[in-house]
Amino acid sequence: MTGFVTRFAPSPSGRLHLGHAFSALLAHKAAREAGGQFLLRMEDIDRSRCKAVHARAIADDLRWLGLDWDGPVRRQSAHMEDYAAALQRLRAMGVLYRCFKTRREVLAECVRAPHGPGPVYHGPRHPLSADEEAALLAAGKPFAWRLSLRAARDVLGPRWDQLGFTELGEGPHGERGGIRARPECLGDVVLARKDIATSYHLSVTHDDAAQGITHVFRGRDLFESTFMHVLLQALMGWPTPLYHHHRLICDDRGQRLATRNDAVSLAAMRAAGVSAAAVRERLGF
Ligand code: GLU
Repeated sequence: MTGFVTRFAPSPSGRLHLGHAFSALLAHKAAREAGGQFLLRMEDIDRSRCKAVHARAIADDLRWLGLDWDGPVRRQSAHMEDYAAALQRLRAMGVLYRCFKTRREVLAECVRAPHGPGPVYHGPRHPLSADEEAALLAAGKPFAWRLSLRAARDVLGPRWDQLGFTELGEGPHGERGGIRARPECLGDVVLARKDIATSYHLSVTHDDAAQGITHVFRGRDLFESTFMHVLLQALMGWPTPLYHHHRLICDDRGQRLATRNDAVSLAAMRAAGVSAAAVRERLGF
């Protein structure tokens, strides 16, 4: 066994499609070639969307593809206390603030960068006073915890300018090699949602550290998210894995695959008589 540890981390909110299969095959192949470990993690923090039946179906689909994984499957929903503790540490650093705004109110204040990943919220124009905040809390208004980039920058000092990672694949604009992380592309993201006491960014980064992940394989659509993950790693003292962002798999009409489109799910292909070997071949394995 070498020090190579990677993972496949789907959200069990639906069936796997070809894009997921590509990520899983790529990570599995790299792990096996390196004599390392391939772990399976269910990112099921959203209990309203994630179902045990989907998690079981995902494991079936992976076995059908010929993939095996090392050790037990990690379910994020079983680790909510760990995310709460991580959130607590960030609060103690003074880099989080409560956001009581509705989604619509936040969107109205967002900025859209020409090549950015989506609308970016740079924080409140007028931060709440302690009295206003106390009144909202007393009234039981729900809030999310957001990461203040300004506060994070103050905490990191000169280390802010060294935030970066190594790209072994390719970013959406051909980025390779040493990449400078630009968390400002994402703004003040939510780290604990109003309805769920954590978020994708916090739990994925926590788990990559907790599971000793050395290599992350995932779609290019998550390239900018890595900027935030690198920032969280720096704040929390967690190591930064090597990242391999891969091309996105498209359907026959060149459209990106989506979980809601069942027609391209592995289950549907299997039901239509497509073999696992044909799927692997179509994806270049
Ligand atoms: N759970 C995420 C997804 O299904 C992927 C997380 C990751 O690979 O970092 O899109």
